[in-house]
This record gives sequence, C-alpha cells and structure tokens, in this order.
Amino acid sequence: MTIHFDNSYARLPEQFYTRQVAAPVPEPELVRLNAPLAADLGLDADWLASPAGVAMLAGNAFPDNAAPLSMAYAGHQFGNWVPQLGDGRALLIGEVIDVHGARRDIQLKGSGPTPWSRRGDGRAALGPVLREYVVSEAMAALGVPTTRALAAVTTGEHVIREDRLPGGVLTRVAASHIRVGTFQYFYARQDHEALRALADHVIDRHYPEARETDNPFAAMLEGVIARQARLIARWLSLGFIHGVMNTDNMTLSGETIDYGPCAFLDEYDPQKVFSSIDQFGRYAYGNQPSIGHWNLANLAQSLVPLLDDDGDKAVETAKDLLEGYGTAFADAYAAEMAAKIGIAAPRDDDMTLAQDLLKLMAAGGADFTNTFRALSALGRKAGDADDGFLGQLIEPDAAGQWLAAWRNRLSEEMRDDAGRIAAMKATNPAIIARNHQVEKAIAAGYAGDFSVFHALTEALADPFADRSADDTLTLPPAPDQVVHQTFCGT
Ligand code: AMP
Ligand code: MG
Repeated sequence: MTIHFDNSYARLPEQFYTRQVAAPVPEPELVRLNAPLAADLGLDADWLASPAGVAMLAGNAFPDNAAPLSMAYAGHQFGNWVPQLGDGRALLIGEVIDVHGARRDIQLKGSGPTPWSRRGDGRAALGPVLREYVVSEAMAALGVPTTRALAAVTTGEHVIREDRLPGGVLTRVAASHIRVGTFQYFYARQDHEALRALADHVIDRHYPEARETDNPFAAMLEGVIARQARLIARWLSLGFIHGVMNTDNMTLSGETIDYGPCAFLDEYDPQKVFSSIDQFGRYAYGNQPSIGHWNLANLAQSLVPLLDDDGDKAVETAKDLLEGYGTAFADAYAAEMAAKIGIAAPRDDDMTLAQDLLKLMAAGGADFTNTFRALSALGRKAGDADDGFLGQLIEPDAAGQWLAAWRNRLSEEMRDDAGRIAAMKATNPAIIARNHQVEKAIAAGYAGDFSVFHALTEALADPFADRSADDTLTLPPAPDQVVHQTFCGT
C-alpha cells in the first residue's frame, strides 16, 4: 500500500517545524478505525487495519513518502503569552489530497516526545484519545467544521498521570493544523519573511479567493474572522463549550480543534464552565464569542507587518477588519437561533423571541438539547406534544405565554408544519455527546471494554434522526451521573 502524500508544509522553510520520527510503542492495537473517513481520504481501510497500517497509526513505521514533522507555534494560554509551544505530543505524518480534491493533514497525537515537548512525555492516555474521537466525530455529524478522528489505537504501554494509565494514539485529520499561535510564533520573532510565507501558504490552502483582491493578506484575515464567527455561533447553538480556547487552539481553517476539557451543556446555564483548569471562567460557554474576538485580535496584530507598508495604515486595516467580527458573529448567531426556533424568514425581533426562551430555560436549568428537540415536534396548534416541551421549563405560565407568542410568530410564516418540523429536527439534534456518556465510554475503555465507546460513536453518527423512546443516550444525567469537571487532554 502506498499513500500518496504531498507534503506542502514540509516544503516551507526549516524554522516552521522539526523533522521527527515517532517513538515506537511496544504493542499497538487498533481500537477503532473510521472507515468512511478513510474512504473520503482515498485510503484503504483494510490496509489501515492491517499490522502495517496499525504500525503507522501508532507511529511505529511510516510509508516511504511520509515526511513526519512537528510544527512550531506559540500562543496565549489563558491570556498568558508563551513564546514557544509547538507540537509536544503530535506528529504530522503528511498531507493527502482527498477524493473531493481537498488537502488534508494526517497527524498522530500521543506519538512520543518531540523537541517541543518541554516537560511532557509526548504521550497521551487512552481516555483523552477516546474523548477526542467521540466528540470530534459527533461534531462532524452535527455539521460543525472540525478536525476528524481517523483512528484510535492503544499502545501496550502505560503513561504516568495522576494514575498509571494505558496509553493511546489518536490519528487526527484536519484541513490544516495552522493556528493563530503559528502566526504569533513568527510575529514574536519579528521574522516577517516567515510570516509572509505562512500567510501565502494559508491563502493557497484555505482562502484562494483572497488572491483576487487588492490586499490578499487583509482578505485572508477577513475570511478567518468570518469563519470563526460562524464557528463559534454554531458551537453556541449546540451547547458546546470548547473549554480551552487558547490562541494555539484556534485554527486558520475555521475548524474546531483540540478536544481537551470540552463539554456539552446539559442544563442551560450561559456562564457554565466545566474545565478544571479554567478557574476564572475565561472560557465559559457564554464567553466564547468575546474570547474569539480576543484571539482574532492577536491574529490581526501578528499580521500587521503584512497588511500595509505604512505601519499606521496597517493597524487601521487590522482594526477595521476586527470590527467586522461583532456583526459577523451577531448575524451568524441570530441565524442559528432563528433556525432553532423554526423561523424560515428571520426578522430582527426573532432574536428577542429566542432570548426569551433561553431566559426561561436558564431560570429552571432546562436541558438545552431536549428542550429544543421537544419544541421541534410541536405543531402550530396546541396539542398533546406541548407537555414534552413545557415539562422542561419551570415557570408554567411564562412558558405557556412564550409558546403562544411563538405560535403567533409561526402563523406569519409561509412554511407549513411538516416542512418546519423537518427543518427544526435537522437543526436541533436528538442526541449529543453527553458528558456522562463520554465518561462512561472512557471508563469502560480503561477496563478493556470498548463496546460502550463503539455504541456511543455509532449513535452520534446520526444525531438528527428520532431516537426510540427508551434510548438512554438522550437522557440528561441522573444526579449521581452529572459530570462537574472535565480535564485537559494530555
Ligand atoms: P493542548 O492542551 O493540546 O492545547 O497543548 C498545549 C501544549 O502542551 C502544546 O504545545 C502541546 O504540544 C503540549 N503538550 C500537551 N500534552 C503534552 C504531553 N503529554 N507531552 C508533551 N507536550 C504536551
Ligand atoms: Mg493545543
């Protein structure tokens, strides 16, 4: 089997990365292979599952034309500047052109130490590997731009964390792994030549249309801002909390990356934080839009040397583009919320209607996913199904009034009930990667039983279909199942 790698990143100047071989692991075993994704990448799933394929997925042996490397980047972690981060436990094995003609990175995560590992061991415990697999694939099925999971393997060795844990390696696929922190790395070094080479690479790869404009670098920045605004609006619409939106965890491609202490809301609480290391709620659910802006401001600053030869003008351009973020996010979020409440032709006041519902939900800690899914099933006329929705809310009078206002608004729409219900069900998932189910899959995996992980992954592949009434995967956690904290993905 040959994989037709075409490694464009490896052709960039040498300060962009370190060439690297992985550190072999004793006994790699495949836990799960994503066969549909393999097919999309033009890879042979049977070969990937064979001993030679698993050796590659574990970092033990690479095809000849792979160019394994670990990438350089810097970043702000919780607002603190770290001039050098880089791939401390990741290895880009190469890029392939998928069957749709798109360039995709194939990267191992947990494949051993690199020159960027600092004090880390370059390894990953099995739990975070399973979490990233389940959640990133769930996000993809929900239609969210995201990195994907091609495979998870166990290594046959243990890693030392708070406990001694079985190790794993995740194979991640991304449009690219270039981050805001990659630009910051070269900006901080005042290496403007590298900055330009990186921006050219990003334009070729992700924003080719920017080439046709007067200022391609400005157009690229504008494109990143637009994609991130839409991405974060989409996260909010699904109750997703990234948990560690450091600038090194924000991509130029607009894909969600780095599923560490991420979580989905069960009860709706706009200030919800799960991550154990997020002491001040910097990355709380409702703070994500403003943190997105903060991160993009750092990207804009890093691009100033490219935006104009005149420094003042360059700063002006950066500022103007950044100002567009607020509107881009507000528009994207309004569109998401209008779709969630089933409005086909949104008006300005629909946001108030959506917000009134969110307020009711927050007051009683309504289940975010199930409330919108229950709403999706309701007709224009009151009926038995109303109870499923009203039962999620604690203030019956206010909830009833909201429902009446919503139906009133629907009566001004052209779309019939059947069309609206179908659209709402294609927007409001029946199933999300609930934190307690993910934890359950991880706990079983540590005990050597991957059936829970497989079942959960498969259920999440089709999140908009109606589930059977006795499906426990759609239920919020019982009090003793609630996950209060999530942890970093190391
Ligand atoms: P992340 O939590 O994935 O955003 O990682 C932040 C930084 O820590 C990156 O530079 C990682 O490469 C590095 N890092 C995280 N875990 C490890 C590990 N086990 N060994 C070495 N470096 C790590
Ligand atoms: Mg990271």
